[in-house]
Amino acid sequence: MTEPCIITVAITGSVPRKEDNPAVPISVQEQIESTQEAFEAGASLVHVHVRNQDQTPSSDPEKFGAFLEGVRRRCPGMIVQFSTGGRGRAAEERGAMLHLEPDMASLATGSVNFPNMVYENPPQLVEDLAATMLAQGIKPEVEVFDLAMLYTAAEMAGDGRLKAPLHVQFVFGLRNALPPRREILEFEVAQLEALAPGATWTAAAIGRSQLEMNHWALALGGHCRTGLEDNIRFDKSRLAASNAELVARVAELCPAYGRHPASVSEARALLSLPPVPTP
Ligand code: ZN
Repeated sequence: MTEPCIITVAITGSVPRKEDNPAVPISVQEQIESTQEAFEAGASLVHVHVRNQDQTPSSDPEKFGAFLEGVRRRCPGMIVQFSTGGRGRAAEERGAMLHLEPDMASLATGSVNFPNMVYENPPQLVEDLAATMLAQGIKPEVEVFDLAMLYTAAEMAGDGRLKAPLHVQFVFGLRNALPPRREILEFEVAQLEALAPGATWTAAAIGRSQLEMNHWALALGGHCRTGLEDNIRFDKSRLAASNAELVARVAELCPAYGRHPASVSEARALLSLPPVPTP
């Protein structure tokens, strides 16, 4: 028996453009198709940002709604996670699509420097987004870009502002934030286990460390994130052909670590989400 690994595919993000890699899906139709390919390659969770036609980040709830509807139709049971991330979006827009009730939404529990900007998550915004998620029954994925965010999340779970058990993503490799070092991941995992019993976790590295981070997460019993949002290259020699290609690479790594790509039913059970809806 092997243990399931939830493979998250971060299909688009707010940064990479078609000029960087033509496989980056921009229109909602492209996003749905790319998600279906990734789903068939072993992804059970999709993390999504939507874009305008000129590729700038969008907050349009209609786009999020069309994506959610398309994925629910074409990828039965797949977990859909909306990004509430800040790049290119005003604070008041960041939760403007949560009424659509995706399964999950991302939630950064603090501020940090990014390569060319401050990623601002002031306490009141964190409180407001968390309260909306709690009220709408949306499970947060806590984004830990820097260490303090982990303790804030544990405190919020402890006093009921976030619903336990937590699901946390440790993010590495953004310049000015945490570097991709295995010792940091190990420390963060140990702290999470001590402070938030029953929590689940995943890890992501931006850029060239993506694959190495997948190995570490598999080895340490976590879940994996991949996709063109974080990394547009397959390796030094070429660009990634698709999100599905990056997902397939993680799926192929699983057996060496006694793991297998989680089915949607397994992923939902692991994250304490409702079972796959019956049509
Ligand atoms: Zn994102």
